[in-house]
This record gives sequence, C-alpha cells and structure tokens, in this order.
Amino acid sequence: MTQAFDYDLLIIGAGVGGHGAALHAVACGLKTAIVEGGVMGGTCVNRGCIPSKALLAASGKVRELRDAHHLKALGIQVVGDVSFDRAGIAAHADMVVTKQRDGLTGSLKRIGVDVIQGWGRVLADQKVGVTQPDGSEKIVTAKDVIIATGSTPFVPPGCTIDHTTVFTSDDAVRLETLPQWIAIIGSGYIGLEFADIYSALGSEITMIEGLDQLMPTFDPDIAKLAQRTLIAPRDIETKTGLLAMKVTPGNPVVIELADAKTKEIVETLEVDACLIATGRVPVTKELALENLGVELQRGYVPVGDYLNVVKNGQPIAHLWAIGDATGKLMLAHTASAQGVAVVETICGRPRTIDYNCIPAAAFTHPEVSFVGLTEPQAKAKGEAEGFAVNSVRTYFKGNAKAIAEGETDGMAKVIFRPDNGQLLGVHIFGLHAADLIQEAANAMGQKTPVQELAFSVHTHPTLCEVLDEAFKRAAGAGAGH
Ligand code: FAD
Repeated sequence: MTQAFDYDLLIIGAGVGGHGAALHAVACGLKTAIVEGGVMGGTCVNRGCIPSKALLAASGKVRELRDAHHLKALGIQVVGDVSFDRAGIAAHADMVVTKQRDGLTGSLKRIGVDVIQGWGRVLADQKVGVTQPDGSEKIVTAKDVIIATGSTPFVPPGCTIDHTTVFTSDDAVRLETLPQWIAIIGSGYIGLEFADIYSALGSEITMIEGLDQLMPTFDPDIAKLAQRTLIAPRDIETKTGLLAMKVTPGNPVVIELADAKTKEIVETLEVDACLIATGRVPVTKELALENLGVELQRGYVPVGDYLNVVKNGQPIAHLWAIGDATGKLMLAHTASAQGVAVVETICGRPRTIDYNCIPAAAFTHPEVSFVGLTEPQAKAKGEAEGFAVNSVRTYFKGNAKAIAEGETDGMAKVIFRPDNGQLLGVHIFGLHAADLIQEAANAMGQKTPVQELAFSVHTHPTLCEVLDEAFKRAAGAGAGH
C-alpha cells in the first residue's frame, strides 16, 4: 500500500456486493475497509433474497401439505387439517436472516476488514467522509474506492406507505400480518414471489400490473405457462393495463386504479392490505458525487465496462461502482461478481462482466429461471445482425424424476443460432428451475455450442435431463450446418 492512504480499498456499503468485493480484496492482499450506515448485509441478507426465500420455503411446505389431490397420487393422506403459525414462520425467516448476517459480519472480522459504521460520501478523489453514529465526521482515504450502496423499493407517487396496511417488501419479509385480501401492485419477480407466499398461506390476492401482460420481463411462452400454473388455479385475481394512482392506507386500504393509457380513474378497490412491488431505485443521493462532477443517470451511478465511475464519458481513476447502485441486472450474484471483477482490475488483471450470461430466478412453486435473451429479443438481434434464430422446448411431464415427484408442470426452452449452435437464451419453468439454469449459464459463459452440449452426460434420473433432451433436440434441429 502507498503510505499516503489509510487503505488500499475502501468500500461504501456492506451488502452482498461490498461483502464480495471485500473478501476478494483481502484474498488479493489489499488492506480493506468497509463503510456501512445501516444494517450489515444490506438488502439481500436483511430485506431481500434471504428472508423471502425462508418465507417461500415454509409457505411452500404448507401448500404441498394442503394439496390432498397431489399427496393422494403419491399414496399419502394427511389426517386432519394442516395448520401453521404465522409468527412461527416469521420467526423462521428472522432466524435465517440473523444467521446469515452474523456469518457475513464474522467473515469480514475474521479476515481483518475494518468495518466503519456510518454514512459515507465522496469528498474528493480517493477521499471519503463518514458521518458516524455520534454525528462526528471521519475522513478516510484509500487508493481505490468502491461504491456499493444498493437500492431501495420504488414507491410510485400517490402511494402512501404506513408499514402496516400499505407496505413494500421491506416490511412484507417480516410477515407481521396475514391479510385476508391483499392487493399486490407489480407482477415482477418480487410481486410473484409474495403472491406465492400469501396464496399458500390462504390470502386472497389481486395482482395489478401497469403493462398489458403479466410478468412482462419473462419469455412470452414461459409467462403464459407460469400464468397457467402460478396464477390461474390459485386465489389470485389479475388486473393488467391499470396503474395504481392513489393508495391510501387504513381499514380498508383504498386503491384508485387508472387506465394505463388514458390515466383516467376507472376503478376503486377496497382491500385489507397492499404490497407495493413496483421496482427498486438506487441509493446514491447521499454520496454527493456531484463533488466530483459526476452526473447520476436516473439516480444510478454511471459506469464503464470495467465499472469505473464515468464523468463526461471518461472513467474516473480509482473510483468504482458495483451492484444495484449501477442498475445492471439488479441481483445479488451480479453485485458480488462485479465486486470481484473490480478487485481483479485494481490488481492489474482487468475483468469485465458478461451480463448476458448471468442467470436469474423467481423462487415461486414451481420456480422460473432464465439466462440470456427471450425469444423476441433473440429474433430482433438476429434480424439486426443477420442470423437465423431457432428454439426448442422440452417438458417436465416426460421427465422420470418429475413424474416420480408428481411435479410435472414445466418446460425448458432453448433459443439458439442454427448456424453455429451458439446459445442465445435458456428459460425454464418447473421444479428446481433455479438450480437447473446454472448449467445453461455456464454453457453460455463458455460459449459451448449445442452440438457439444448434446454429448455432455447427465445423471439419470434427474431434472437436468430436461435440459439434456433440449440440447439434443437443438443439435438435431438444424444446428451446426
Ligand atoms: P444492498 O444489498 O442494497 O446493500 C447496500 C448497502 O449499502 C446497504 O446495507 C446500505 O445500508 C448501505 N449504504 C447505502 N448508502 C450508504 C452510504 N452512503 N454509506 C454507507 N452505507 C451505505 N437477488 C437475487 O440474486 N436473488 C434473489 O432471490 C433475490 N430476492 C430478492 C427479494 C427481495 C424481496 C428483494 C427486495 C431483493 C431481492 N434480490 C434478489 C435482489 C438483491 O437483494 C439485490 O440485488 C442485492 O442486495 C444488491 O446488493 P448491493 O450490494 O448492490 O446492495
């Protein structure tokens, strides 16, 4: 380390992005500190991935045990009612959060990362001011600074949050109440996951989506199938093309819905509770990046390919940003992968991220996952760049493991270039889809063509064979001319 600096690397924000960067920095021999103004672990650990997956795990078991028809097919009968304790499920989620947070904090301590409590802002190049809990300001210098300040729920204007009857996922993960009728505004993965949780636990749901179709970011075939399995047979009413213009907390919660095109109020709903799941916005205002002349883009920190913060189109030396604050595929594993990439670049091994190869999943029952392009996106790219696009589908209903589990709803869709076998996108809906997608993500990352994937040996009988069959079918469907 150059003696002039307190640290080699200072990270602002101890979420998964900051944590991943810190672990890798220490492994690379950098003297590292991390600044955290809120709770260690950030969104993922405290208000995101971890508590939501704990709630999905518990509520999923309730759904399974209450599905007498499914159990009977396996020769099982549950005698009497299946009951659950809301507070017990909430305590389970809280326990998992505490365990993960303690693990994360302990791992930083063990490897000698200094944790500085307080809110950081960038004062000048390589210089950060931290407002500590007692109000005093600490100045910290570092050769390199990473911004990893994450995101927070977006609440549309007109929606008032009271944290009890109208709330975002920040409150929902605590499962403090179980409303009889809840409106969920937004059908992205957060809205879908909570619809899965609430419907399993017996709530009636009205899902409201501003666009004309539900799950607008999914491949259309997958969205259609997911709607048939995750929405239609459950106690979920859907309303598309409607915007929540005003949400007023209380008993009841009053929601004024407008036509998304005309913006005229067309309907008023009265429900017991409302979850606002309309996306997330970056937490960047307090960083004072204007001190360096950086212009935020819709609140996101502008970055280049190597994740340098950019000013007037030029990278600023020694200032980097990662995770949700950059707005690129806002997922936990993106944030930590970006953190590792920045540390590699700092250490003289420049590394970029191929966002097209990052898998994503919704942990509904069954799960949805994907990597790469949807079919319409692939076709548009093919048209623009002059190549043909083909796709194949295989179904869980023909898979031995899925049949044994009695979980045969599902499909894998592989989108590829017939001229060279290159994978363009893979989409899976079905049991353990979130685990299954990794093989496709690795194949895309390594640019393995479908003709080669068709020869990779898959364990029998496993759900992976759904993809095995799809790769074989793709190889036989005109790939590799
Ligand atoms: P964050 O985790 O938001 O951490 C940023 C940290 O910086 C926070 O602790 C904050 O307090 C701190 N901070 C902010 N400003 C300052 C400052 N000026 N000074 C000091 N500290 C500061 N992703 C997945 O991959 N899989 C999932 O299953 C998944 N499920 C989710 C479920 C829900 C309900 C939600 C809301 C999100 C989910 N996500 C999931 C997304 C994931 O949580 C985020 O992508 C991830 O947490 C982003 O990490 P980050 O490090 O960029 O930011």
